[in-house]
Amino acid sequence: CGIVGYIGTQAASSILLEGLRKLEYRGYDSAGIATVLEGEIHCVRAKGKLHNLESKLAGEDNPARVGIAHTRWATHGKPEEYNAHPHTDTAKRIAVIQNGIIENYRELREELKERGCQFRSDTDTEVIPHLIAEVLQQAESMEASPLVSIEPSPFLEAVRQVVNRLEGAFAIAVISADYPDELIVARQQAPVVIGFGQGEFYCASDTPAIVPYTRAVLTLDNGELARMTPLGVEVYSFEGQRLKKTPRTLNWNP
Ligand code: GLU
Repeated sequence: CGIVGYIGTQAASSILLEGLRKLEYRGYDSAGIATVLEGEIHCVRAKGKLHNLESKLAGEDNPARVGIAHTRWATHGKPEEYNAHPHTDTAKRIAVIQNGIIENYRELREELKERGCQFRSDTDTEVIPHLIAEVLQQAESMEASPLVSIEPSPFLEAVRQVVNRLEGAFAIAVISADYPDELIVARQQAPVVIGFGQGEFYCASDTPAIVPYTRAVLTLDNGELARMTPLGVEVYSFEGQRLKKTPRTLNWNP
């Protein structure tokens, strides 16, 4: 029900947890966080209140500078830890969080199962990391694929292709252990705001998670995705067109 993402120069996990706390008002039944740590996806999830996630993270000194975090309000699959976000692909190279509902997840799940994919949750969301992993694998096996090489990033291109296959109202954020300098966020009928700092960038489903750090905010519109890196934010349409969007300054009286 709430998403938060961070990429930049500071340790991501405390910023992400603080962001989730600011989104608690949206309601949730479980929570989770994923970062790219020493070349791997490091994912920690817990059922119930944020406090449970915090106790699991206590004592961790996680220096990762990119990550995503989620509070879940279950729509598909019981509110159990194995259904909590982030969800990963089979090889655990990609982590995804989602707000909303993927209406056509059954068809996508069946299709992936026929190709040998094994699912670890009952959610509508888990199809997303598996689909992204498939597109990236296909691109790697096609040597110097022209489709991928004209794009600024194969990771962005893979996420773009996959969001075009999803039906429903959703917002997603994605990280990859193979692309540690990128965080991709996409919006289709569920809110996403992006905050601009100095060499650090934030995304969230609502501004309270971002205002402690910056007032320079950009709102994604439906059918848009953004590639966030420590150097900046690029916005694209789901069709792959680069869009010129600039942040506005929020008036915020806490
Ligand atoms: N439909 C997703 C799930 O059940 C996301 C729910 C949410 O927005 O928290 O896992």
